[in-house]
Amino acid sequence: MNISTISFDGDMTLWDFLEVMRHSLKQTLLEMQERVPTQRVTELTIDEMIWIRNQYADEVKGKIWNLEEIRMGAFERTLEHVGYPDKNLAAHLNTIYRKHRFEDIELYPDVIPTFNVLAQHFKLGLLSNGNTYPERCGLEDRFDFVVFSQDVQVEKPDPKIFEVATQQAGCEFSQLLHVGDSLENDVAGAKNVGAPSVWLNRERISNNTDIQPDYEITTLEEILAILGL
Ligand SMILES: [Mg+2]
Repeated sequence: MNISTISFDGDMTLWDFLEVMRHSLKQTLLEMQERVPTQRVTELTIDEMIWIRNQYADEVKGKIWNLEEIRMGAFERTLEHVGYPDKNLAAHLNTIYRKHRFEDIELYPDVIPTFNVLAQHFKLGLLSNGNTYPERCGLEDRFDFVVFSQDVQVEKPDPKIFEVATQQAGCEFSQLLHVGDSLENDVAGAKNVGAPSVWLNRERISNNTDIQPDYEITTLEEILAILGL
């Protein structure tokens, strides 16, 4: 390998998105249950809220790219679902959600120590289908390039988003090592363009797909050994 650049996925690779998302929805649900007088809101669950959001995201796929706009629409849908449509209340809920979503996010403990070593040898980048910008999680000034699908309107595993990354980094696909937790988006996406890939498998799940990463690790620090550091 002749690697000059490492791109990282964000959600579930550098921070626990699912935890902060569920925590933020919980705060929003409590507020909704305070303000909405219907019976149905008392039975609403976080899993249902996630389901409503994902349904809505599927419906507007390719039409609305901005994830915060999708979240806002999902709160409007959720209020309709509990029999209390109210756009102003949806906006209020969205504000509460955003506050927790962006203020309560925490990096995995292996991120900063690993970046401290890698940054001495490689260009580092963030390549995300999400919407946690580096300054929202203490990673400002840590990346040489940052690519978000909602900004470039193409998402992993599409080769075009990897093209944007290598253009910004000024490297070839073969010089880019991409690291992420998703076999479908990160590993397959990198393979599509001929970039080597590292599958970060924090939960040690078994790979039941036919997508084979070049490397598999369970903590970020293991990248150092792969790169001979
Ligand atoms: Mg991920």
